[in-house]
Amino acid sequence: MNVSVIGTGYVGLTTGTCLAEVGNNVICVDIDYTKIDKLNQGVCPIYEPGLTELISRNMYLKRLLFTTDIRYGIDNSDIVFCAVGTPPDEDYKVDLKFIRQVAISFGRHIDDYKVFVLKSTVPVGTADMCKEIIQKELDKREKDIKFDVVTNPEFLKQGAAVKDTMTPDRIIVGVESDRAKEMMENLYKPFVRTGKPIIFTDIKTPEIIKYAANSFLATKISFINEIANFCELCGGNVKEVAKGIGLDDRIGSRFLHAGIGYGGSCLKKDTQALIQKGKEFGYDFKILNATEQANEFQKDLLFMKLMNNFNGNIKGKTVALWGVSFKPKTDDTRDAPSINLVNLLRKHDVTVHLFDPVAADGFKERFFKDDDTVIVKDTCYEAAEGADAIMLVTEWDEFRGVDLKNVKERMKGKLLLDGRNVFLPEEVKEFGFDYSGIGLG
Ligand code: NAD
Repeated sequence: MNVSVIGTGYVGLTTGTCLAEVGNNVICVDIDYTKIDKLNQGVCPIYEPGLTELISRNMYLKRLLFTTDIRYGIDNSDIVFCAVGTPPDEDYKVDLKFIRQVAISFGRHIDDYKVFVLKSTVPVGTADMCKEIIQKELDKREKDIKFDVVTNPEFLKQGAAVKDTMTPDRIIVGVESDRAKEMMENLYKPFVRTGKPIIFTDIKTPEIIKYAANSFLATKISFINEIANFCELCGGNVKEVAKGIGLDDRIGSRFLHAGIGYGGSCLKKDTQALIQKGKEFGYDFKILNATEQANEFQKDLLFMKLMNNFNGNIKGKTVALWGVSFKPKTDDTRDAPSINLVNLLRKHDVTVHLFDPVAADGFKERFFKDDDTVIVKDTCYEAAEGADAIMLVTEWDEFRGVDLKNVKERMKGKLLLDGRNVFLPEEVKEFGFDYSGIGLG
């Protein structure tokens, strides 16, 4: 099939590439010239395991191309995916300006029946809004062209985006016509060979499913974090608690890792967006408000532990911050807990040594460009050099096998604050560290 994907970010690039991988002709469109230039030179603008190889192969086979020309993309496709960003505005309502722009372009350029697929995460009612926008553009052109708007939210996890897209748990598609349903069914056939379901619904329900899914995951994280905080006060080990409850298949073991709160471009944005949408309909999401409140508390936890350890006297200290991306295996630092922590440390005149396997340079450039006391280091060992404390913020695998003896010898102090419970307290203490994890009693 001929497909275009408008918006070539984490979602659009992965979706477009995977659709090409199963044999479709895909045109990925973006307004960001630099990104498209890079892609046309075979350089993947994001760190996502396995993606670069797939892009290269499908470009070579001429099934995948990149352009800034949206008209070209729409003209040459039967299905147009909209995967642009839906960032929050200052009140955490969803800013739909990019979605509107794409819907306008679609209405301006289609010349025969095409399907407009909302892949971006959008609040309930957005598909209806897009239908109106497109129809208005067609009316202006005095064209009687049939089209369908379909909702098809994305559930990929950054760091495993290719795998999640090639073998999804489920595909949710909201449709209003048999024609659109058949086209989507054919497009997704190669992805559900393993027996995973495609669920067809009306067009509003997928909009709600996506927000409900992310808000539920956020709630699970905040829940276990609260249990962890309780474990610290009363004694007890949150890892064992999580295991003990997770084996109940009504609860499940995933997303029960205590830590320093959720970050990234989705969980907070989507939880807040659902809260705001609830308000529009006169509904107060009590659980979601509490989820967010617990998360804000958790994001400060490592800093509070640092303050406690030094009785509030942290001015002039040096902290090695291990991991800045919002989770491992991605370079994405949007809304990462590291941002809040570095800000708190800098407010208290602490020098920060940053190390991350892929994200440190981008993080420094984006958030602390002009601050000479936020220093990027090439290895976690260099970051530890002369540090009074280490804060482990992102659980990259390489930290699990780190030579703790070497680390300890390079440090000035001995505090190891493990925000992701990567280490075993008994093992770490043997090397002379003062160790504190999250909820380990
Ligand atoms: P992103 O910021 O990485 O990418 C969005 C891209 O859209 C950017 O490259 C931007 O330049 C481009 N763009 C904006 N306006 C455009 C226009 N008019 N024409 C063409 N391109 C345009 O965002 P993302 O992380 O890929 O997220 C996209 C959507 O998918 C959001 O709604 C997000 O909530 C949702 N989502 C994201 C994830 C994730 O893990 N990142 C997972 C599921 C769903």
